Amino acid sequence: MLKSLMPRTYHIITFGCQMNKNDSEHLAGMLEFEGCKPADEPSSANILVLNTCAVRDKAERRVYGQLENFDYLRRTNKLDQKIFLAGCMPAYDRGEIQKRAPFLDGFLEIEEARRYPPRRTASAEAWVTIMQGCNNFCVYCIVPYARGRERSRSAEDILAEIRGIDFAKHEVLFLLGQNVNSYAGAWQGRTIAFPELLEIILRECPAVPKLSFLTSHPKDMTDGLIDVLSRQPKIDREVHLPIQHASDRILQLMNRGYTRGHYLNLVSKIRARVPQVKISTDIIVGFPGETENEFLETCELIKTTDFFRVNTAGFSARRGTAAAELPPLKQTVVDERLNRLNTLINSLKPLNK
Ligand code: SAM
Ligand code: SF4
Repeated sequence: MLKSLMPRTYHIITFGCQMNKNDSEHLAGMLEFEGCKPADEPSSANILVLNTCAVRDKAERRVYGQLENFDYLRRTNKLDQKIFLAGCMPAYDRGEIQKRAPFLDGFLEIEEARRYPPRRTASAEAWVTIMQGCNNFCVYCIVPYARGRERSRSAEDILAEIRGIDFAKHEVLFLLGQNVNSYAGAWQGRTIAFPELLEIILRECPAVPKLSFLTSHPKDMTDGLIDVLSRQPKIDREVHLPIQHASDRILQLMNRGYTRGHYLNLVSKIRARVPQVKISTDIIVGFPGETENEFLETCELIKTTDFFRVNTAGFSARRGTAAAELPPLKQTVVDERLNRLNTLINSLKPLNK
């Protein structure tokens, strides 16, 4: 399909996380392999690509808004333009998209794009995805449906990609996965876990100036990983460890697989073993059935844990997930609690330097 469109120019707009941004680099790599050239502006591109995020309703609404902008542009532009969608939204709900955006020309597949080397655009970070998908099925989350089950790349494959990175242009190697702590990839005929992968990368690729990774799941973070963090000075001292909620009842309903006590114990262990570590986290506010007291448990934990960074989001029901079947809180309650938590976090900022 793409070949018949060449030679052409393309423009990609990316929504969502670092993994999506890395996917867009592979999409760019695929389009350039096919002879396309990047265009700085959508108005001068023949191929318009939206790489989408489906994690929250707000992200989806922004995608539909952008699609309408593209459609308007195409109708008023003299250039021959095609509009494609990629990423998490078409991976789980193509029918709905075709209904709402019948003018779309088609979908680009991330799995296919990943066969092409990325065209790296981020200046500081060189992203390398070490695993795709997720097996955890946290009840609110669309990722296991949009990205499928976990698939870990072999260490050989990952090393080959890292050796091709020009570290004169990138300050940090960023390893990506929805749950890097459950990495289980092949290395010299056996299966290795994440701590060993980190050691192999640092040993085999001395040009790596600094190494970071996202995301660690608290239920799978091992003493072995904390040990590697404490011994390897090239590993970034910011550890992202999403707790999502502080109430054990809500954590269980969310299917997170750990308790507040386990999480806080992990934080203490990391702080004791890794000097100058900065711990950041994600919080979901207003999960179905969250009581005022349960919300206050989260506020209390935020006050007392001294996080470096806290990302917050109001619960967003995602069609097809188990949490979408639960009776939701009123949106006004979710918004008010989110507001209150954000105000609290802002008031704590000077403490978290
Ligand atoms: N794999 C990571 C983990 O387990 O922490 C997170 C990946 S998820 C794409 C990024 C963040 O989006 C989550 O940490 C969570 O806080 C938020 N999120 C996911 N689904 C959500 C939903 N339905 N409503 C609100 N926030 C959500
Ligand atoms: Fe979603 Fe949970 Fe998997 Fe993270 S671990 S991607 S929140 S299902």
